[in-house]
Amino acid sequence: MDPLPAPDARRFTALRALSLSLFIAMHLGSLAVLWLGGTWADVALCAGLYVLRMFGITAGYHRYFAHRAYKTSRWFQFVLAWIGSMSIQKGVLWWAGLHRVHHRWSDTPRDLHSPVQRGLLYAHAGWFVSPEHDETDMSLIPDFAKYPELRWLNTYYWVPALVMAAACYALDGARGVVWGAGLSTVLLWHGTFTINSLSHTWGSRRYETTDTSRNNFILALITLGEGWHNNHHHYMNSANQGFFWWEVDVSYYVLRALAAVGVVRDLRKPPAHVLSPGLVAAATTRLAGVKAAAETRFAEAREAVGEVKAVAETRLAEAREAVGEVKAAAETRFAEAREAVESAVEDASTAKPNATS
Ligand SMILES: [Zn+2]
Ligand SMILES: [Zn+2]
Repeated sequence: MDPLPAPDARRFTALRALSLSLFIAMHLGSLAVLWLGGTWADVALCAGLYVLRMFGITAGYHRYFAHRAYKTSRWFQFVLAWIGSMSIQKGVLWWAGLHRVHHRWSDTPRDLHSPVQRGLLYAHAGWFVSPEHDETDMSLIPDFAKYPELRWLNTYYWVPALVMAAACYALDGARGVVWGAGLSTVLLWHGTFTINSLSHTWGSRRYETTDTSRNNFILALITLGEGWHNNHHHYMNSANQGFFWWEVDVSYYVLRALAAVGVVRDLRKPPAHVLSPGLVAAATTRLAGVKAAAETRFAEAREAVGEVKAVAETRLAEAREAVGEVKAAAETRFAEAREAVESAVEDASTAKPNATS
């Protein structure tokens, strides 16, 4: 018989079942629009809350809290966090902290939502539904964790969604709740989740980043500009993710408008070399040319040095040979001279007695 699972494992299994049930219940509950029907006002409520909360996630959770792509006041940063929390995508500090991990470890085993690590479905919704990563690691986001109101909202992230649901009920009863808090939220979830799943699998790549990020026009439309994900992975700190005028980025247009009236400021932009991929490509080609030329020159120089060395060695050998010859000649001459001296001495000693006698 299998041993009973540890209390923590049991708690985890129960949490996962609860989380998955709520996730599925939201989807099934949204289908109630088919029975309840709706007016154009309900459709507008659904679309309006989708757009507002997508802005809260993209401009707030993502560009402001995760990347600090612009500055704002303490009250407006709370407003951004509140609107983002209305999307029921867990706490702002939790979300932004883990998003920093995503950039630091993109598509590696430490990336929680990489399609190449745990599959497309897990990258899309599995990582979010699972309570596996529920703890907020404040060390990932100390710059915002120092605000008590943000820590509070991070813990009670569901409060803004409850307030929103109550407002929907006040507007149009149960139908308002189903359209505004139900269907709109489910659409918003999947719209947001495409950035973790499809934006790493579907689209084109302008920049050779070390991850699988893509640029995709359709995803940029449904996420108010987040679909320019390859741009974003290449230069993550800019307030705009569409780098060129044709790259639609609604969140950025709204941020520009808010900057114009002084609500936000210091919107960060990508530097010039990032905006000119042609320029970068030309510079890279030029650099490769310079490198190849330098390598050729180096090889030529090495060859020339080799030749000079060979000539020097030949000359040295010749000189050595010449010195040997001179030495041999000198030795011969020396031997001859010695022989001559010896015979002269001998002649002299033989002649002496005759002279004295
Ligand atoms: Zn990414
Ligand atoms: Zn990012």
